[in-house]
Amino acid sequence: MHRNITVRRLALDFYQFLRAQKVATRMLGHQFSRSRNYAEIDITYRCNLSCVNCNRSCTQAPSKSDIRVDAIESFIEESNVAGMKWERIRLLGGEPTLHPRLETIVDMLLTYRSKHRPQLRIVLCTNGFGKRVNDVLARLPEDVVIKSTAKGRRPRLFRPFNLAPIDSALFRYADFAAGCRIIEDCGLGLTPSGYYPCAIAGGIDRVFGFNMGRPNLPHPTDIMRDQMAVFCRYCGHFGFLWPTRKQAMSPSWKTAYRSRMEGSIRKNML
Ligand code: SF4
Ligand code: SF4
Repeated sequence: MHRNITVRRLALDFYQFLRAQKVATRMLGHQFSRSRNYAEIDITYRCNLSCVNCNRSCTQAPSKSDIRVDAIESFIEESNVAGMKWERIRLLGGEPTLHPRLETIVDMLLTYRSKHRPQLRIVLCTNGFGKRVNDVLARLPEDVVIKSTAKGRRPRLFRPFNLAPIDSALFRYADFAAGCRIIEDCGLGLTPSGYYPCAIAGGIDRVFGFNMGRPNLPHPTDIMRDQMAVFCRYCGHFGFLWPTRKQAMSPSWKTAYRSRMEGSIRKNML
């Protein structure tokens, strides 16, 4: 079994589903709150693999968009101004080693750590696939932790990311602003389109085009429930869904991918 899809994890997901029902959140409050200690930065949507059910839509809606280096610069400056005490910053994607300026981004974060947060763990999450990726990994400074999912072309067991809870009667009493464990376990998301309670929400916004990313680092008092209320209704990580190796897709996602594709075709014709 995938290490993130265990019997214990599935049981916790099921409990999360029950706790996210409106009646439960009204009585007990929300189970999760967004992290002020962890951050994930999706630095690119480029990827050298095409996994089914990719939760950044790199397969379903491929893109070469990269985060700008000045967005990382602002993140660091605003973190200092707000006195953020980051414990872990992860670089992800897509496949983060494909960002053309990865070296600069890593240098900036290492400088931030040495000047302001010596305890900070900087982690790069990679699929570990192919020569190009592994050549970049081999050149990374030793004090960047590499976390490889060691993926290949064989389909892996994933949660069916593209089954939108809003399309299922099972979720008709859900409180989508409840979010899920990812806002605590993985942390605040920074993506090419701004800040979100989780990086996955930024990937959803890339496809649906709500343009709801916060342009600046959210203040610690910003609980970001407005974004969860919108994005979690489309996210297969919300509540409980049975993992699969096959691409699954519900109507909201089909429409969103189709509109996005038609939009880019229209743009290319202008
Ligand atoms: S390696 Fe990761 S980002 Fe790339 S397609 Fe697979 S799941 Fe998506
Ligand atoms: S968008 Fe998905 S991953 Fe993010 S909080 Fe909502 S359910 Fe969780």
